Amino acid sequence: MKTISILGSTGSIGIQTLEIVRLHPDLFKVASLAAGDNIRLLEQQVREFKPSLVSCRTSGAAAELKRSLTDYLPSVRIEHSLEGLIDAATFHTADLVVAALPGSAGLMPTFAAVKMGKDVALATKEVLVMAGDLFIEMVNRKGVRLLPVDSEQSAIFQCLQGSNEAGIERIILTASGGPFRDLPQSDLGLVTKDQALKHPRWKMGPKVTIDSATLMNKGLEVIEARWLFNVPVERIEVVIHPQSIVHSMIEFADGSILAQLGTTDMKIPISYALAFPKRISSGTPRISFPELGSLTFMEPDLQKFPLLRAAFSVLEKGDTASAIILNAADEVAVQLFLDGKIGFSRIAEIVLDGLQSIPSDRTDTLEQIMSFHEQVVLQIRSKWTNH
Ligand code: MG
Repeated sequence: MKTISILGSTGSIGIQTLEIVRLHPDLFKVASLAAGDNIRLLEQQVREFKPSLVSCRTSGAAAELKRSLTDYLPSVRIEHSLEGLIDAATFHTADLVVAALPGSAGLMPTFAAVKMGKDVALATKEVLVMAGDLFIEMVNRKGVRLLPVDSEQSAIFQCLQGSNEAGIERIILTASGGPFRDLPQSDLGLVTKDQALKHPRWKMGPKVTIDSATLMNKGLEVIEARWLFNVPVERIEVVIHPQSIVHSMIEFADGSILAQLGTTDMKIPISYALAFPKRISSGTPRISFPELGSLTFMEPDLQKFPLLRAAFSVLEKGDTASAIILNAADEVAVQLFLDGKIGFSRIAEIVLDGLQSIPSDRTDTLEQIMSFHEQVVLQIRSKWTNH
């Protein structure tokens, strides 16, 4: 029996993690949950999965959850804010922490989990994008297991099992190309929020869906892969694969390429991370190759999607500060787009401008990283709000 904690239990990854837990009550038990302010769903999750501790984003949400659970008999501790989040991430009975909080909010609690010696199933890319160096160093020092949940990273991780990591010649990350793959560049400025939120293949949260439409998501994954697999940027390649059946590939010294294939269902990488090194049923539909017909691959258009190129440049430059600027600028720009304040093309404009105009700062510790991130967020927000 594995006991797990889920940070971000009411988000897309959190919900699907609990679906896997529901399928395997003999394998998994829930120790703690942390969520934002979707109290109705969180209440249902508490009643069904009986965690010992729950944390909400705000004290108001925690009070509301308490009220809605007055008739609930098993005891559950209800906390809130960063302190509650850290308590959920470090809960003493948990073996594995699923880190699935969106954005930079996931950093502190994920570090805290590793510090306490917990294995981590990582969905929050920002942990590696903003602090890859520090995080991997701590994972190694603590000797915990780091299990990628992102489908591309899970694919690479799966292909590496039983292989000699030193032999990786090339990582080939696949990308669906997003909803605007075939749209002329000149039309990108006119796309609406609804169009950008309609991903052709994957069902995900709003931030990562918009990032998929700009290919920023693939850029963040390039950075993620660099840290997860300790591979220099020259050995990472991105290829557009519209069917999203091949989730990524690795090439070895002898020219062999291994790929992991599957339907576009996050329950596959989630179940792999939860049960590793075993494989368990994920309850997902199976692929029929005759029905698929063909799989196609093409080069990404870096002219049209400059944020993917920007991610490569940041890695080539090799400084953490640039990665933090890239990520923070994108976080602000995507939010402005989702709030209807800017057009789609402006997202890339804001990020590229941030990379050009914001000077680097110290990023040696987690505290410095967080404070630089917040500083960049404020700067970009004040520059582009009501622009
Ligand atoms: Mg992905």
